[in-house]
Amino acid sequence: MYEIAIIGAGPAGASAAIFTAKAGKSTVLFDGGTSATKRALLKNHYGVTEITGPDLVETGKKQAAQFGAELVDEKVESIEKTENGFTIKTEQGSYESKYVILATGMIASLGEALGVKAKPATEPRVKTVFAVDAQGKTNVPNVWACGTVAGVSMHTIITAGDGAKVAVNLISEIDGKRWVDHDVLGK
Ligand SMILES: Cc1cc2nc3c(=O)[nH]c(=O)nc-3n(C[C@H](O)[C@H](O)[C@H](O)COP(=O)(O)OP(=O)(O)OC[C@H]3O[C@@H](n4cnc5c(N)ncnc54)[C@H](O)[C@@H]3O)c2cc1C
Repeated sequence: MYEIAIIGAGPAGASAAIFTAKAGKSTVLFDGGTSATKRALLKNHYGVTEITGPDLVETGKKQAAQFGAELVDEKVESIEKTENGFTIKTEQGSYESKYVILATGMIASLGEALGVKAKPATEPRVKTVFAVDAQGKTNVPNVWACGTVAGVSMHTIITAGDGAKVAVNLISEIDGKRWVDHDVLGK
């Protein structure tokens, strides 16, 4: 049983996984290989002069794995509610988790099948997003969402930041106190 399953390893999902794994929460991160970011050349990501989308995505996944997230490079076929959490099925395997973070980019169908409330998107070229509260929670208990599929502006600095925000909120809820992750220079 993983504590947190993150569906989607673009900037939103991988950024969330960096935080949850680094906080010691067992994390599984799924990537179905459909990240829109893989077609981008980025010149507006704060702190990075220029990076290709594929390089940003691969670096993000590596960073999450370095902190202990398990990467599964497979499409999630279904998510089902169980007594203790969720069963996540891919073509090859089945995974259990207590919490789910949906970070599926421009694809909302997986969450909709689970009963997550959706609404029309406002961002260009995005059709449907999930209705989330300010924390990132959906209407389905223990299912959170971040990034493009949660309706934020479709820019890597924003989707990555939203993934981090939602992860910090979920970690804080699990721990029952606000979480902060600050590494300090020179220690
Ligand atoms: C051509 C192009 C150029 C762009 N240029 C810029 C730019 O210059 N600057 C900028 O800031 N932004 C740019 N963007 C936008 C940027 O790429 C997105 O805003 C942002 O990266 C989206 O992040 P995300 O994590 O929400 O979604 P995505 O990067 O789309 O990631 C979604 C993830 O969900 C996964 N997924 C979906 N369904 C499933 C499933 N069933 N099972 C498993 N995994 C699943 C995908 O595989 C992927 O890993 C550009 C986008 C495009 C298309």
